[in-house]
Amino acid sequence: MRGTRVLVLNSGSSSVKYQLVDMADGSRLASGIVERIGEGPVADHSAALKQVADELSSQGLGLDSPELAAVGHRVVHGGTRFTEPTLITDEVVEEIEKLIPLAPLHNPANVTGIKVARELRPDLPQVAIFDTAFHSTIPERAARYAIDTATADAYGIRRYGFHGTSHAYVSRAAAKLLGKDPSEVNTIVLHLGNGASASAVEGGVCVDTSMGLTPLEGLVMGTRSGDLDPAVIFHLARVGGMSPDDIDTLLNKRSGLLGLCGDNDMREIGRRMGEGDRAARLAFDIYIHRLRKYVGAYTAVLGRVDAIVFTAGVGENSAAVREAAMQRLDALGIEVDAALNAVRGSSARLISAEGSRVAVAVVPTDEELEIATQAYALVSD
Ligand code: AMP
Repeated sequence: MRGTRVLVLNSGSSSVKYQLVDMADGSRLASGIVERIGEGPVADHSAALKQVADELSSQGLGLDSPELAAVGHRVVHGGTRFTEPTLITDEVVEEIEKLIPLAPLHNPANVTGIKVARELRPDLPQVAIFDTAFHSTIPERAARYAIDTATADAYGIRRYGFHGTSHAYVSRAAAKLLGKDPSEVNTIVLHLGNGASASAVEGGVCVDTSMGLTPLEGLVMGTRSGDLDPAVIFHLARVGGMSPDDIDTLLNKRSGLLGLCGDNDMREIGRRMGEGDRAARLAFDIYIHRLRKYVGAYTAVLGRVDAIVFTAGVGENSAAVREAAMQRLDALGIEVDAALNAVRGSSARLISAEGSRVAVAVVPTDEELEIATQAYALVSD
């Protein structure tokens, strides 16, 4: 009889986050983060994972425990190759490495984390869970960009989408909140964290999402611009003399809320707006305007919307963002109850007004639990 515990690893370029989940009841037995990899005592990912193993051992939860059923690794980009949770083999590692050009900032660290974990426990099933997988059902008409097909195919250019484990978890949890099966519910999920993305989920199946080839497209984010005219890039190169790397950094790291007003934290923006700060107000208004455009677009994509769900740091905590985003949408059957919206909480809850045709909900996301659930389902088959 195999154990019921899954170690979830999220290996980033300079940090490794971990959670040990017991799938018997979904409880967290341990969690932590090893940061500043490459600086000081934690020389590399190998040292970081050994530190994770030591931290677990010191709590009597060592990697050698027979209770451990699997390791679930978050992998950012699965390309078109990986659309399901995948048991990791040498061949799978090679295939994930081949996808590095599509996610140069993320996949290398994911691969390193996988390799080191496999060295530590070669006998243990290790499962890759891809951020793009939930979006693999998006039809071609929504996934393709309107550019020359041969060029798009040659370079793998299409909409892949990200935050997939969150969109999957939250859309299922929203159906549960409504007392329905996911197959009966059409949902617009608004994942609003430092990174942000929207998705349209029809009967549990994703049919469109706002992030594209990379996480840059779509909503205004903490530091990313989201949608813009692609000619802005040529203009910056030709007239501004900027290199592709300069523009990449500008649009990914120095744009969005940060670029607009100097702050990327919605709490700080709210505080500044309270003091009458005009740059913070404009940044907020631009953020909300983009969000509302996607709600309108995905209403048209789905035809019938049953629920709109807010999740992640901003979506779960900012009543001001939810209120502004949902204002004057009664023509679409969307009405929020101001008092319910203002209540702070840490569990899934409805904030729509009685009689609102569309349910509006706040659902805390849990990407680690989703990764553990998917990994466990694969190994306990
Ligand atoms: P995430 O990426 O999901 O961890 O979300 C992080 C972001 O959530 C932060 O950058 C903040 O902008 C936002 N956030 C966290 N707590 C609050 C809060 N109480 N009110 C408004 N925004 C918040």
